[in-house]
Amino acid sequence: WPGCGKRKVDYEQLKRILLDTPTSKHAEEWSRYYTAGPHLAGKNYSQALWTKTKWEEFGIQSDIVSYHVYINYPVDHRLALLEKEKNKHDDGAPAWRVSFEASLTEDIIEDDPTSGLPDRVPTFHGYSASGNVTGPVVYVNYGTYQDFEDLLKANVTLKDKVAIARYGGIFRGLKVKRAQELGMLGVVLYSDPGDDGDVTEEKGVKVYPDGPARQPSSVQRGSTQFLSFAPGDPTTPGYPSKPGAPRQPVHTAIPSIPSIPISYADALPILKALNGHGPKAEDFNKYWTRNMGLQYKGVHYDIGPTPDDVVVNLYNQQEYITTPLWNVIGVINGTVPDEVIVVGNHRDAWVAGGAADPNSGSAVLNEAVRSFGEALRLGWKPLRTIVFASWDGEEYGLVGSTEWVEEYLPWLKDANVAYINTDVSVRGTYLRASAAPLLDNIIHAATAAVLSPNQTVPGQTVYDIWDKHISTIGSGSDFTAFQDFAGIPSLDIGFDSGPGEPVYHYHSNYDSFHWMEKFGDPGFVYHRTMAQVLGLVTAQLADQPLISFRAADYAHALDRYVQKVEDKLNDALSPATKEIDVASLTDDKIYFELRGSTRNSSVTTALASSSSSSSPSAAESFRRSLKRLHRAVEKLTKRAVSLDEHADRLRDQVRRHVPWWKWPAKLKLGSEIRKVNTQYKYLERSFLFDEGLDGRPWFKHVVFAPGLWTGYAGAVFPGLVESIDNQDWPNAERWVDIIESRIRNAAHRL
Ligand code: GLU
Ligand code: CA
Ligand code: ZN
Ligand code: ZN
Repeated sequence: WPGCGKRKVDYEQLKRILLDTPTSKHAEEWSRYYTAGPHLAGKNYSQALWTKTKWEEFGIQSDIVSYHVYINYPVDHRLALLEKEKNKHDDGAPAWRVSFEASLTEDIIEDDPTSGLPDRVPTFHGYSASGNVTGPVVYVNYGTYQDFEDLLKANVTLKDKVAIARYGGIFRGLKVKRAQELGMLGVVLYSDPGDDGDVTEEKGVKVYPDGPARQPSSVQRGSTQFLSFAPGDPTTPGYPSKPGAPRQPVHTAIPSIPSIPISYADALPILKALNGHGPKAEDFNKYWTRNMGLQYKGVHYDIGPTPDDVVVNLYNQQEYITTPLWNVIGVINGTVPDEVIVVGNHRDAWVAGGAADPNSGSAVLNEAVRSFGEALRLGWKPLRTIVFASWDGEEYGLVGSTEWVEEYLPWLKDANVAYINTDVSVRGTYLRASAAPLLDNIIHAATAAVLSPNQTVPGQTVYDIWDKHISTIGSGSDFTAFQDFAGIPSLDIGFDSGPGEPVYHYHSNYDSFHWMEKFGDPGFVYHRTMAQVLGLVTAQLADQPLISFRAADYAHALDRYVQKVEDKLNDALSPATKEIDVASLTDDKIYFELRGSTRNSSVTTALASSSSSSSPSAAESFRRSLKRLHRAVEKLTKRAVSLDEHADRLRDQVRRHVPWWKWPAKLKLGSEIRKVNTQYKYLERSFLFDEGLDGRPWFKHVVFAPGLWTGYAGAVFPGLVESIDNQDWPNAERWVDIIESRIRNAAHRL
């Protein structure tokens, strides 16, 4: 067994190499390279080639794997406010005056060179529909499902109106989806500085580039695909977009009404045009009156609609093509067969910069790859195979990673032990992690072995100054196909921006090298730190004879999730609790939620729950069914605990090095280890359900999925929870059966 003997570079030495090799200087160099010019999905071949060449220089054999995918590029756009004149044209037709023409561009900032590149990327939405619509405007708050419900309840006319929504809370594509379902003409999305906490111009903070507050012209680009339906190329759900592959119609996967992203500078005149029209934010709940960051500029946040003689014209022209995109895949071959660790991050960005999203991750990944190359050079012999991936097309809808997982599904299902993602590796100093429960302890161990750049007491580690919160894995980045489609335990990790920290200009021209150097990570110290964390997480998964999973952590998590479903059931039975849910949200919690980062589902789950009439007796009897889940989880817990204990005993034996003259014992130990590892490897796979979730069959995992109406935030037991939301008790029973049999199977296999 390769893990038991003496190795030239042992595990402790490997860890040393992975801690000592990454440097801030290198990270800065990679960051500078990736952020020097536009590199949209399908338009970054030179960067793919450069990445491959670099990784090969580092000693890692690499390839470019391409797919032909359906995506859009911007052609033209317009957003204007029109007011009807008193006087008509000579022919009697009404005359309209343009009272405001939106600039739809971000200011060129002299200190920030990529903000002024002649070929910089226009502001637009990925997978948005072309269209030219004109109509009165309605303010729909964050555009969450519940926001729209509030509007319907208040009898605000939505049909044939244009929505203006603020960004935040949920995935933007779902805002467009709901507006479309309600018959709206189009959607305008803007970034409200009220959601930037205390770091705002209103509170006396200077705006970028003179200070850390939001630049008023900054625009958040981004995809508006209906993420919760299926990620990847919308024309090939479930199979790879190879040239010549059959293509499906896209109408259920992407919007049919146009949408456009704008800055708050451009939003002001439109929001002001709503003053005095329709209900007021105060007429609704706390979720509508929080963070009204433009009040000081004269916006009342009135709902509208504007009268028929005050309308907006929204014009969006997109070119749709099927075009190649390029993943870079590097491989270190291990000695153990069929046990593979995949580590990845995307390379494509919405803007020329993309210094945080995604290229802080690209820089960090390069440093990790370089460190493993260094270990190889020093004679390290890896146990498991490590695959590094630089994905393309993440921004449009996780396209590069999803197509790759769809192509290599049988191999990945057989061999892939875990997937590690680091999208937006650095945008601040607060550690953020989301993960499948099997990986919790690995995140703890790796962060505890890396020194924090922010020590108030000497020797403090990243772990020491972290709130230790690991979110439920949701969606919004490249782990989705691994976790939800292939059943591979996944994690996503990075340094987030926290309260008081510089505003991160997500998907804007100002997510640039200049911003990163001046505000995001001066000195690139957090880049280096994250490269060390990434290296150690990878090493712990790839190079320990026993896979470092804790099955008991999974079982305990399942227990909590069943409890959550019970809470949900109580909610469904007494709608009153939901009011409390919304009202009791602390600003802090929402603050993080709206930064688009944490995938905490509590806010949005509460918001997404329906409040239609309930039928207590059916629900009461359903409560008894949940007991079955509790019992199944108990059984799994027992087995999981004993597997972990067995693994610990084997770890102990490995540590005591079985000497060569007892080689038959060593062989036995080897096969015991192999058996345990196989059990760990397939545990997550037990929770796949071939038919998939109701209405979104691509999502195969019965425990985790992006929330139907959140997109980013993770939902647990999605099939079951959605059935409860819909008060569809027979279907809820069906889901209890599906989940119970999976938990029992998992227990049986341990
Ligand atoms: N990470 C990107 C975003 O949040 C893409 C997410 C997706 O389309 O699934 O906009
Ligand atoms: Ca596909
Ligand atoms: Zn990203
Ligand atoms: Zn992004």
